[in-house]
Amino acid sequence: MAGREKEVVSCVACGSYNREEVETAVRKAIDALGGITTFISPGSRVLLKPNLLQGLPPERCVTTHPEVVRAVSLICRDLGCRVIIADSPGGGIRYTPANLRRLYAAAGYEAVARDTGAELNYDTGYRTVSHPAGLLAKSFPVIAPALDADHIIVVSKAKTHLWTLYSGGAKNLFGVLPGLEKPLHHARFQDPDHFAGMILDLNDLLRPSLQVMDAVMVMEGDGPSSGTPRLVEALLAGGSATALDQVACKMMGIPAADVPTLRTARERGLPGSIPDQISLVGNPPKALQGQGVRLPSTYQGSGRGMQRSMLLSLLHRLGGVYTPYPSFQPDHCQHCGRCARICPVGALTLHEGVPELMRENCIRCYCCHEICPAGSIVIRPGPVRRLIAKISGLS
Ligand code: SF4
Ligand code: SF4
Repeated sequence: MAGREKEVVSCVACGSYNREEVETAVRKAIDALGGITTFISPGSRVLLKPNLLQGLPPERCVTTHPEVVRAVSLICRDLGCRVIIADSPGGGIRYTPANLRRLYAAAGYEAVARDTGAELNYDTGYRTVSHPAGLLAKSFPVIAPALDADHIIVVSKAKTHLWTLYSGGAKNLFGVLPGLEKPLHHARFQDPDHFAGMILDLNDLLRPSLQVMDAVMVMEGDGPSSGTPRLVEALLAGGSATALDQVACKMMGIPAADVPTLRTARERGLPGSIPDQISLVGNPPKALQGQGVRLPSTYQGSGRGMQRSMLLSLLHRLGGVYTPYPSFQPDHCQHCGRCARICPVGALTLHEGVPELMRENCIRCYCCHEICPAGSIVIRPGPVRRLIAKISGLS
């Protein structure tokens, strides 16, 4: 990166979601980057893009914590900005004002709007925007408030992810695609690296002005919705999603080389895609030196000392028999049909309200698992994987 400035990422210790502590930490993290006016013009229209997903209560660790959204909203309000909180929920949940109202309330964003003067978005319109410079995607349908904003601030949640291994700053922006456009894009970009390329094209199109990441409590295991909370005690901020995600992955012990968005960013030579291009400032928490998070059960990669035998490499190529499939537990099913609606390739059909999987069609994107409100979908390794794990201890 000769002759180029380093991408600055700030990381500030924050031990809990105590209101004062979070607000102080968010202000410190942004001040360490030069202050909010480095990124946002006073009096402008600012979209806060949290991770709303299914609008679950904050303690589930699925959504961006409302205290973090609240702190960013206050900082923008102090700058005289008009603040709009918007996201299109995970596919399978229709992008309607009634659903948004329910999800905002569950995630704690209604109170944020009330306390800070921010607006909650109920405009479910969208426009298709062309992106000739996109390497994989040349146009995107984007929700109206994201297009109408002067600035976008991505307020993401650091989580593991069954399909993309990690979800943070760059992937958060996928939420600006309205409703069922998400599964359509999953169907179009079935390979994780192609999906990552599409995500990077979308980031290039919308160019968020600032990234703030909630990593006070991250999700480990089978994220982004069925993992378990883990205290990491950090708030991060930066101008580059790639650099921010690099730092978050290092902090969480997630091998960056196995994260499709980071791997693809590196192949594209994006700033902040290698650690030498990043300058870390702030006062990182002790957790940075701690043990890494538990990775998703679908992880097959080579990180953290895992040995990759020739046998394992062969099995990777035979993904159809090796990669875990979703498995359905009818006893827990609430018959909501969301899984069948979100499935990008029509691999699920409902019989008397209970989903049935056509394995030959399943592309193992795990969207159904992500969206199930009842936890009735589990990701199970197939018999071949279980056998190999037993013999080799490679998991
Ligand atoms: S059934 Fe397969 S392809 Fe369909 S959403 Fe689930 S994991 Fe994805
Ligand atoms: S498996 Fe989950 S998402 Fe699918 S119908 Fe049952 S409760 Fe709904």
